Amino acid sequence: SPIPDYLNVVLDKVRPIEDGQPAQYIKTLREADTSKLAVALVMVDGNVYSAGDDKVEFSIQSISKAFVYAIAIEDAGLQHVLERIGVEPSGDAFNKLSLHKGSNRPMNPMINAGAITAHSLVCHPNALAEERTDRILQIMSRLAGRQLHVDEEVYEAEMQDADRNMGIGYMLKAAGIISCRPAEVVKGYIRQCSINVNVRDLAMMAATLSNAGINPVTGETIMPTDSVRQVLSVMTTCGMYDAAGQWVSQVGIPAKSGVAGGVMGALPGQVGIAAFSPKLSENGNSVRAVAIFEQLSRDMGFHMMDVS
Ligand code: GLN
Repeated sequence: SPIPDYLNVVLDKVRPIEDGQPAQYIKTLREADTSKLAVALVMVDGNVYSAGDDKVEFSIQSISKAFVYAIAIEDAGLQHVLERIGVEPSGDAFNKLSLHKGSNRPMNPMINAGAITAHSLVCHPNALAEERTDRILQIMSRLAGRQLHVDEEVYEAEMQDADRNMGIGYMLKAAGIISCRPAEVVKGYIRQCSINVNVRDLAMMAATLSNAGINPVTGETIMPTDSVRQVLSVMTTCGMYDAAGQWVSQVGIPAKSGVAGGVMGALPGQVGIAAFSPKLSENGNSVRAVAIFEQLSRDMGFHMMDVS
């Protein structure tokens, strides 16, 4: 197949880009090797292609929000979830302490307020952090097709720097959006963000979304199709933070980024894509990963509005 060679050409093209800087708020991310660069594609027929540092693991961070939203829908029901978390892009920073003025709900599940709420809806209302994160880790492992693990160093560091997310948790409790102990929910949310993946894992997880909830390699059905549709919809409108509009027009693939430098994209019926490099732009998206997606979208006609 010419695809691996092509992927190496794409990586060579974006490697000279030195804009941005890695996330600064914890040591592990601040000191990440910024030369790391990787891409992976998983087609819905199960073919896997990757190039670059495709074995290097990084914390999934906010990309987990997409999957935990799906698990919340499964555990609490879509109606219950929609009553607590909106589906409107916020245009604000991901970690803003904000609720929608009219409905008092977090704007969407891709900002921290919405993601922490989604985490609280996993399992049952009184679940402890461990029970929720065990379930999340188990489902994410099935999506990736191999057992994933929490990066304890990232988890500990995030817990040392959790004031803002704790603040969001208490705000949600005060507003009546979450009913359990805020500190326990935020602890679980931080643990879900600390799960390690490489680009091949992420592309496989994305391909499962592209393939109507069925892992294209293991053949296992992991999510119902209506949850998949809901997740891909909010990824399209809210997945790339305040760059979502520009992303949809230039790349045109439902996607989610994380602060460790990963970006995952899922094109329904076709392909799951992941790219990784640690340096982020102002809006928190990996600069090189965005450039990779722009290139792939152009070259391979991946824009969802293109008629093939
Ligand atoms: N753990 C980070 C946070 O909640 C994840 C954020 C992100 O990837 N944007 O602040």
